[in-house]
Amino acid sequence: MYKGIIKEMSSRVASVIINTLFPRRCAVCGKIISNRNDDKYNKKNADKSRKKYSGNESTCQNSEREYTGENEDKSRLICSECEEGLLYIKEPTCKKCGRQLKDETKVYCDSCSMAQFSFDRGISVFIYGDLIRKSIHDFKYHNRRENAEFYGMAIMENCGKLINLWQPDALIPVPIHKKRYIKRGYNQSEVLAGSITKYTGVRTVSDAVCRIKKTKPQKNLDKSERENNLRNAFAVKMSKLEGIKTVILIDDIYTTGSTIDSLARMLRAAGVQNIYFICLSTSVTI
Ligand SMILES: [Zn+2]
Ligand SMILES: [Zn+2]
Repeated sequence: MYKGIIKEMSSRVASVIINTLFPRRCAVCGKIISNRNDDKYNKKNADKSRKKYSGNESTCQNSEREYTGENEDKSRLICSECEEGLLYIKEPTCKKCGRQLKDETKVYCDSCSMAQFSFDRGISVFIYGDLIRKSIHDFKYHNRRENAEFYGMAIMENCGKLINLWQPDALIPVPIHKKRYIKRGYNQSEVLAGSITKYTGVRTVSDAVCRIKKTKPQKNLDKSERENNLRNAFAVKMSKLEGIKTVILIDDIYTTGSTIDSLARMLRAAGVQNIYFICLSTSVTI
């Protein structure tokens, strides 16, 4: 019995020391998070979570997955002001790409109505507002890799049920070019996938696809420029896909869908049967 108490006390002392030496910063604004495990904060978030879990189960946002401990943990990773300010994608959403729709009578967004995408379906968690834009920018360009812990948690809360439904064999992060990888030191999508692996146990396979051509950002290009930009941009390593039938592609931002689609087409040609995607944020609301 004493052993248990001592163990518990030691782990508390260790966590106080770690928090003092290496205080957590909010995954959005970057401010140091004080100890906010107070009743007011947790009650507010518990109420919010309950609301989130009720509703149309076909959407990402209204996942019914029980995710224990989310309120306590989340208060370590994001400050209450930022949590309140973040814009979560809500119904109605496009049943192909997951973008939020303005018109609830629509099933698909304009882009998905016109295009023939190779992926089966995808979802994102946040509308690309100022707060998540800053957070992702820091995550990508200022080495704020620890933001991925909050992102993984937000994905589990909002997309957990779909992940369970899809039963993926692997998570495949959208690759970046080797030169960019060396300059940045990491691939943000791989870090994000790693965070989802931690919560789900589904393995991240980073070497099944690679980017062999340096591409320009897709959002500033028209349709034919986008196709040219991505032509021969990726290569698939068949040996790494052995036994993999269902994948979830992971990326930080969904814009035109052409990058995900290009990868999906290659993976399908390589024999992958079910191809989904999860992005942290989507840049457009239609
Ligand atoms: Zn904050
Ligand atoms: Zn769509």
